[in-house]
Amino acid sequence: MGDQPDGDRGPNQAAPTEAEDTPDAAARTIGGQSRAAMSEDARLSEKLDHDHAVETNGRMAVCRRCGFRTVAPESDRHLVSERYRARAREWLEASARTRRADYKRNARDT
Ligand SMILES: [Zn+2]
Repeated sequence: MGDQPDGDRGPNQAAPTEAEDTPDAAARTIGGQSRAAMSEDARLSEKLDHDHAVETNGRMAVCRRCGFRTVAPESDRHLVSERYRARAREWLEASARTRRADYKRNARDT
């Protein structure tokens, strides 16, 4: 006994998890405190990561899908900086809107 994975999580840790799957274990600290402490730039970068997989040409640290910087030319992580913060926010909003519209269209067609 005692090796249940949920054993050390209190009942009040059942915080509503966002429908995001964070591959990065560090961003997944219990209680979401590290998430709250993350800078907005880091959060936006993460959202872009979730939105789509980074695509670079292997030489420049720029994602071809969204046009934002990535951590490195061959990285799979976006890197939003202060300068692109507003643009990243808009980009993500537009992306979410498109997705919702697609979803509605699909739901109607079936
Ligand atoms: Zn991208």
